[in-house]
Amino acid sequence: MSIAERTFIVFLGPPGSGKGTQTRMLETTFGLPQVSTGDLFRYNLKHETDLGKLAKRYMDAGELVPDEVTIRMVEERLKQPDCGGGAILDGFPRNLQQATALDAILADEGGLDLVPMLEVSDEEVIQRLSGRRVCRTCGHLYHTEFSPPQQSGVCDLDGGELYQRDDDTLDTIQRRLYVYYKQTSPLIGYYFAKGLLVELDGSMPPDEVQTLLLQAFRDRGINPVA
Ligand code: AMP
Ligand code: ZN
Repeated sequence: MSIAERTFIVFLGPPGSGKGTQTRMLETTFGLPQVSTGDLFRYNLKHETDLGKLAKRYMDAGELVPDEVTIRMVEERLKQPDCGGGAILDGFPRNLQQATALDAILADEGGLDLVPMLEVSDEEVIQRLSGRRVCRTCGHLYHTEFSPPQQSGVCDLDGGELYQRDDDTLDTIQRRLYVYYKQTSPLIGYYFAKGLLVELDGSMPPDEVQTLLLQAFRDRGINPVA
């Protein structure tokens, strides 16, 4: 596959809009890795790297990690062999500086192919995030009320322990929403102007959102791996 054929997708939407769930579902269908900056930071945090230590105080406060380190981290990640066919970006870019940096990184690849935007209300974001639980081993997402595991605190898929993210507390959720409106939402207009934006109702059940997404991909000539 030539470099020009690489496919890059960016997911927009507030925290808790389902970006993580949807990008994970798409990973296998399209053979493209999910690149989640939040997951990359959490990985660094867990392994107590310098980057993890730096990121922690921003993450705990619900603020953005500085652009310079974030952009460098993404640039390095996209050079990994598994991104040979492209990637599905989740949680990046989160402001205009990051968006223009991504354009520069992808300049030789023909730029982005599609930007799905998942819309959900603030009330739903708060409800979803405050009940969210994550598997420590595989990262699978649950909700204490809407999609509980069969056994409380245990992952259905691999028996891993479920935990609540430090930043899924009410105060931090509200701060993250504020940061989203202030810094990330201008990207909606940015990508709309480029003809890349597809807005979807993120309040629907995950399977239905996925069906609409697959249609949007097909409409753009982005096809599942055989
Ligand atoms: P997420 O898992 O996408 O909700 O991200 C969790 C936290 O990681 C955010 O609240 C930020 O502190 C940090 N983070 C993730 N992605 C970015 C980004 N693109 N730029 C800056 N900070 C980020
Ligand atoms: Zn698991």
